[in-house]
Amino acid sequence: MSSNIVWHSHPVDQGARAEQKRQRPLVIWFTGLSASGKSTIAGALEQILTGQGYHTYLLDGDNVRHGLCRDLGFSDKDRQENIRRVGEVARLMADAGLITLAAFISPFRADRRLVREIMPEEQFVEVFVDADLSVCRGRDPKGLYAKADRGEIKQFTGIDSPYEVPQKPEVHIRAGEVPVAEAVNQLLDYLHRSGVLQAGYQPVALEA
Ligand code: ADP
Repeated sequence: MSSNIVWHSHPVDQGARAEQKRQRPLVIWFTGLSASGKSTIAGALEQILTGQGYHTYLLDGDNVRHGLCRDLGFSDKDRQENIRRVGEVARLMADAGLITLAAFISPFRADRRLVREIMPEEQFVEVFVDADLSVCRGRDPKGLYAKADRGEIKQFTGIDSPYEVPQKPEVHIRAGEVPVAEAVNQLLDYLHRSGVLQAGYQPVALEA
C-alpha cells in the first residue's frame, strides 16, 4: 500500500447523513450455516423497516459473489477475503447513513471480529441464525447439501469446512424452532430496546 495516502475528512459526515435520514445507522450482521435462514430473515426484517420509513440495504452473500467477490472461492483464505471486503462495504453503507443488513455464512470468529472492530462503537449487531445441520440439510433450498454429499462441492460449511459458533452474539435466533415472523419480532424488539428504532413500531402479526 502506498504510504502517500492520507485520509481526507469531508464536511458531510455520517452524523449529517444519519440526521438527514432521521435514523441511527448500523450494521446488522447475520451469521449461520447455509440454509439456516439468514437471507430470509434479513429480507423480512428489511421489508418491515423500509415499510416504516427507514433507509436500508441488504448485502447478501450469494449476490456479492456475482460481482464484488466473483474472483473468490471457498478456501479459508478466500472466505477471509470475502468477509473483509463485504465488511468494508457494510461499513461504507453504514457511513452513508443506512441500516445495513449483511447475510453471510461468515464461518470464522476472527473474520466477524475484524468487521466489528472496523465499525464505530455500537454500530455492529451480530445475529446468530442458529439452525441445526439436520434442519438446514432438510431445507436445502438450493440443493447445495445434496451436492456436497455427492462430493460435487468441496469445503462446504458444516460438512468439510468448519463453522465457529458465535460466543456472545447480540441476538441469538433459534431459526430451526421459531417461524420467520417470530425471528423478525425478536430483532425488532432488540433494535427497539437498544434505541435504534423509534417508539411505536408495529410487531409483525404471527401466523396462526
Ligand atoms: P441462508 O441465507 O442462511 O442460506 P436462506 O434464507 O436462503 O438461508 O434459506 C432458508 C430456507 O429455509 C428458506 O427457504 C426459508 O423459507 C426456509 N425456512 C423455513 N423455516 C424458516 C425459519 N424459521 N427461519 C428462516 N428460514 C426458514
